Amino acid sequence: MIAGGGVGYRGRFAPSPTGPLHQGSLVAALASYLDARAHSGTWLVRIEDVDELRTRAGAVDDILRSLEHFGMEWDEPVVYQSARREVYREIIEALLTDGAAYRCACSRSDLARTGRPGIDGPVYAGTCRQGIAKGKQGRTVRLRTEPGGMTVEDRILGTQQQDVGTQVGDFVIRRADGFTAYQLAVVVDDAEQRITDVVRGADLLVSTPRQRYLQQVLGYAPQHYAHVPLVLDPSGRKLSKSLGDAAIARKSPLQTLLDAFRFLGQKLPGPTPETLPEFWSRAIAAWRIEAVGKARDPTDTL
Ligand code: GLU
Repeated sequence: MIAGGGVGYRGRFAPSPTGPLHQGSLVAALASYLDARAHSGTWLVRIEDVDELRTRAGAVDDILRSLEHFGMEWDEPVVYQSARREVYREIIEALLTDGAAYRCACSRSDLARTGRPGIDGPVYAGTCRQGIAKGKQGRTVRLRTEPGGMTVEDRILGTQQQDVGTQVGDFVIRRADGFTAYQLAVVVDDAEQRITDVVRGADLLVSTPRQRYLQQVLGYAPQHYAHVPLVLDPSGRKLSKSLGDAAIARKSPLQTLLDAFRFLGQKLPGPTPETLPEFWSRAIAAWRIEAVGKARDPTDTL
């Protein structure tokens, strides 16, 4: 088990505003909040609205009001990725100038045809690595990757290994629609906000080595990671804000928090707390990240 945290702990919750919070996003928010507070750290909220086409009207307000309703207080002003486009643009331009990234003209169907299967879609065949063929236009920007193992220690899941160059390949940092890719935006913002500890859902585990790769290319300090189990619906599908999965019941915040706390494998000794402040002070004292389950029964619902 790797110790996370330490002096100067800074954690964050970084939802994409594609819909209201559901039980799965509450579990991720709760885990990152408790871990930050248990380390006497700072906890931030960043709205990941880099893809403005997926942003749902009202979702930002809804998410922030839900967090307040549960008593999760952030310590610094909320950061919006939509306001940071220029920062991402400059970093991508610098990577292009250095040759660490290149423009790619391949379409989705080119990729499907030429790429071999990877762990997160086809591995790019490298068609545009040495330059774009005459008559073609750059669509995306890709980061150049090289084969080689990448090891990331996860505080819950232990040692994770991935060969980004071989299993993922040169990945997109600016999309064909002009939006910055999640992978780049998250790395740039975590560095700028001096995040030391990322606690988030296990669906992002596959992206973590790519993010570590980018951190190395950009010369940023690495973070500690902890990926918490996903809340699945009875058919085994991950809950999703954009698919309109049930927003958390706002009526009984205490019960909702107790359920999420239990889902994270945590135990609160003594009688059931009666108020939110009582829940928070006891839950922060009781938080043990090592008790968070590694895998859950897919039929386990909150
Ligand atoms: N914005 C991402 C999401 O809502 C989370 C990003 C992260 O925590 O790194 O799934």
